[in-house]
Amino acid sequence: MSMFVALDPNGQLINIENAIRGLACNCTCACCGEPVVARKSLIREHHFSHHSNKESCFIQRESLLHLYAKEVIRNQLGLQLPPMPGTWLESEDKTSWWDFERVDEEVPQQGFQPDLVAHLRDGSQLFIEVAITSFIGEEKLERIRNSGTNTVEIDLSELLFNTHSIPSEEVKAYILEQTRNKSWIYPEPPSLPARPTIDWQPAAAQHQTAQPQAKCFEYRYTIMGMWLSARILPTGSVAVRSWSFNPHITNLLKAWRNELGGEYNAKYKNWIYQPHNREDVLARLQKLNLE
Ligand SMILES: [Zn+2]
Repeated sequence: MSMFVALDPNGQLINIENAIRGLACNCTCACCGEPVVARKSLIREHHFSHHSNKESCFIQRESLLHLYAKEVIRNQLGLQLPPMPGTWLESEDKTSWWDFERVDEEVPQQGFQPDLVAHLRDGSQLFIEVAITSFIGEEKLERIRNSGTNTVEIDLSELLFNTHSIPSEEVKAYILEQTRNKSWIYPEPPSLPARPTIDWQPAAAQHQTAQPQAKCFEYRYTIMGMWLSARILPTGSVAVRSWSFNPHITNLLKAWRNELGGEYNAKYKNWIYQPHNREDVLARLQKLNLE
């Protein structure tokens, strides 16, 4: 496995194509820290190799992504974010660019350590979590709640198996400017008035209700004898899922999507409707419940 990425003298990830040939590139291995040589011959594919001639290190794409995400946010000192729950931006469903004064890494908090801590001009902080295969769990969420600090999670799982090189402008833009990959963890979305739920639940859902977050924002319905759930996402959108496959339900949810807008999330097998349609969608589900 050849190495195509290393760290430049400033500790930033650099592609072999942008490195000066030879030891003059002044680069180190992003994995073990040893000096590397930029091999740029006409015969072999350009690559880095350890100056010591030891075998190439293998840097997992996940580690590379994690490293790169932190680097671009630190360099850019900002991030485009979805509307924060409970602000006027939420009602307008507008994303906004957040400027940071400073971004720190590895600052231990009470019982957890966020990937990045961004400092804002008004003196407040924003915790930023970069998630690729592991996401914020209930325990960490509780600690974030206790800290009362604004927190967003960036989901980069989509980049794990695609072919964009890291670093690259495409990946940088995806990290900084895309907002559908970002969720507000804290503050959490405002709770809605309680709605009647049905008595029985599939085993998977029983597990979910054990988590306080899911309990507050998940509603259950029986439609055409099928069990559906509606979950309010941190963005204020609503995610509707049918727990068993039924073409009539699928067509119904698809028709709502075509009418109101929204999208199907294949990973979670749910239909996402935007915050301004949330009440409408919940009302429709309620109307069909046990009909
Ligand atoms: Zn190495």
